[in-house]
Amino acid sequence: MERYKNYIGGEWVDPVGGEYFEDRNPADTRELIGLFPKSSREDVDKAVAAAREAYKKWRLVPPPKRAEILYRVAQRLVELKETIARDMTRENGKILEETRGDVQEAIDMGFFIAGEGRRLHGYTTTSELPDKMAFCIRVPVGVAVVITAWNFPMAVPSWKIFPALVCGNTVIFKPSEETPLTAHHFVKVFEECGLPPGVLNLVHGFGPEAGQALCEHPGTDILAFTGSTEVGRLIAEIGARGHKRVSLEMGGKNPIIIMDDADLDLAVQGCVWGAFGTSGQRCTAASRLIVHKAVYTKFLDAFVERAKALRVGNGLDPQTQMGPIINEAQLRKIEHYVELGKQEGARLMCGGYRLTDGDLKYGYFYAPTVFADVHPSMKIAQDEIFGPVVCVIPFETLDEAIEIANGVRYGLSSAIYTRDVRNAMVAIRDLQAGITYINAPSIGAEIHLPFGGVKQTGNGHREGGTQVLDIFSEWKAVYVDYSGRLQRAQIDTERLVKLGD
Ligand code: NAD
Repeated sequence: MERYKNYIGGEWVDPVGGEYFEDRNPADTRELIGLFPKSSREDVDKAVAAAREAYKKWRLVPPPKRAEILYRVAQRLVELKETIARDMTRENGKILEETRGDVQEAIDMGFFIAGEGRRLHGYTTTSELPDKMAFCIRVPVGVAVVITAWNFPMAVPSWKIFPALVCGNTVIFKPSEETPLTAHHFVKVFEECGLPPGVLNLVHGFGPEAGQALCEHPGTDILAFTGSTEVGRLIAEIGARGHKRVSLEMGGKNPIIIMDDADLDLAVQGCVWGAFGTSGQRCTAASRLIVHKAVYTKFLDAFVERAKALRVGNGLDPQTQMGPIINEAQLRKIEHYVELGKQEGARLMCGGYRLTDGDLKYGYFYAPTVFADVHPSMKIAQDEIFGPVVCVIPFETLDEAIEIANGVRYGLSSAIYTRDVRNAMVAIRDLQAGITYINAPSIGAEIHLPFGGVKQTGNGHREGGTQVLDIFSEWKAVYVDYSGRLQRAQIDTERLVKLGD
């Protein structure tokens, strides 16, 4: 069985403690994919030293030159797309179509951010004093720690690693312990494409050990995190103690509102994809369907029929529409919430059990599950379950629907199905979310628009778009005084209103 390594200072190295963890296929746990380093504080120390050393030179490399490497990485990913997607399905469970999309997102991000190498725009402005000019530029921050979730094992790291590098930072990447192979492939491409040693380092391992050590290390400057709201809070606390820049992308409980004037076929189609894509294990998954009473029964019947018909199985099989749950703990969490939903009095319309027929018993498969007549205050309607479990909630007016939609602690994605432009515009204005879709489900963000959430989903930063550059660069204001004399801002300006002075 292959033992994979960490990548530190341009070398593939074993973990100092010599310990490894297993990476298994969630669709068939008999398949051991590989053994990966269980890194400790000592490994982290080495990675930080390498990243700090490399930063001294990398920050001085002209951004268009940095970008040329990133462009090559994106080109190489195009060639490797199918191989990486297959391995990603083996370790993460998503169906092939989706893992190809995951790699594609990294490719898109690579090309998009490589273009920033020739932009990284600042701006010039005026000065209140004569013979003086003023402008703003972006400068790198230092060493960025990238800690990510398993559900988008290449896309999400790419949203952070490409912009961090183009801005002139060096990076230490601690991927999810559930998807180390995809991280290995990703980092290998950077090596192959000529990224200098130490500029990108890979430290495998678990969150409370390797992850936390990276956050606490005095030699790291940016903590860029994607994962659960609970771990995000912990990282924010550590970051605050060390005066670090912290960017958090966290959980969601995303609503889709279906109005009485909606195209119902389109809405059903969108809701099935939004709710059960990636087995509901997306931060943007549609886990609450808020449906107008006038179309409630009709929508529910059609939606449940489609949910029951989904083909669940191994993601490598082209017939499969929904893959497994990532691991046993997540499966238990889903089972816990389904029991809770029943106790809370929600009506179970379909699913609600683990699938164990034939070879499915070797994986973590769960039936697509729909609860109807859910009250917005129930725990199943409030907490992020992160699985194929959907709550259907009735409403009578748009105001009420928006109040229900906003009545959770999260605010990532949101959607409304309506043919009435007024409903759409009110939803755009009033939904508390970083993303709002009109007549499309809550999933499907594109990389050149800002991505992130409000309330307990984020902390004010955005990935994607050029907005992501604000996470990975500092603004520097520059004043150039070519008057040859002392000029005092705010003080000497008084005199200057007199002409000829
Ligand atoms: P998680 O919070 O358990 O883990 C995320 C990462 O944090 C992993 O790499 C893990 O090893 C690390 N980690 C765990 N404890 C840590 C600690 N004490 N210190 C430092 N690092 C630590 O999340 P997960 O189960 O991997 O992913 C699912 C969650 O991610 C869901 O809540 C989902 O909504 C969220 N998510 C959010 C987005 C987004 O962009 N908003 C995208 C994908 C997933």
